[in-house]
Amino acid sequence: MVKPTGLIIGRFQPFHNGHVKLIEYAAGESGKVIIGIGSSQESHSWENPFSASERREMIKKSLKVFDRYEIIEVPDINKDLVWVSHVKRIAPDFQVVYANTARERHLFSEAGFDVVPTPFFSRDLYSGTEIRRRIAMNEKWMWLVPQGTIDVIKKIDGVRRIKDLSLII
Ligand code: ATP
Ligand code: MG
Repeated sequence: MVKPTGLIIGRFQPFHNGHVKLIEYAAGESGKVIIGIGSSQESHSWENPFSASERREMIKKSLKVFDRYEIIEVPDINKDLVWVSHVKRIAPDFQVVYANTARERHLFSEAGFDVVPTPFFSRDLYSGTEIRRRIAMNEKWMWLVPQGTIDVIKKIDGVRRIKDLSLII
């Protein structure tokens, strides 16, 4: 039997160990995983410090052993009614959606997709908000993200960027 293609959408600001576990979980039951970079038009803000191409690079550098995935970029549309058709226009065919917010689950299941609720892994630590806070406050953060994310953040001086952005919120 052909395994279905699964979709995961996130902002990945930055791409962290919770995201890796989520993708591994989806990969276990999918033939292929589509990774959608949400709010792709955003960068250089406190909640969305990294651009879509920087986030894409974090993911590619971190998922070296797993190659059954494709990355797409999904800009915000801010209209629930057309969210699913917006995603369908951008993404290659998919049958399953991995989601842990009620809103996302409802929208995709009403549109006829199989929705698989996913667990949160160590959510207090594996959280973009928590990692951005730690970076801004000079607290330890590198152990919460894969090496690919560390490499990209170093290359683009992302620590300085987040600290600068933390001063203007
Ligand atoms: P932020 O705090 O900036 O919102 P986040 O950690 O929630 O960041 P997102 O990019 O918003 O990460 O989420 C992307 C996807 O990954 C979502 O489906 C989200 O629920 C899921 N996710 C985030 N953290 C975890 C985790 N620790 N375990 C499992 N799934 C997670
Ligand atoms: Mg989130």
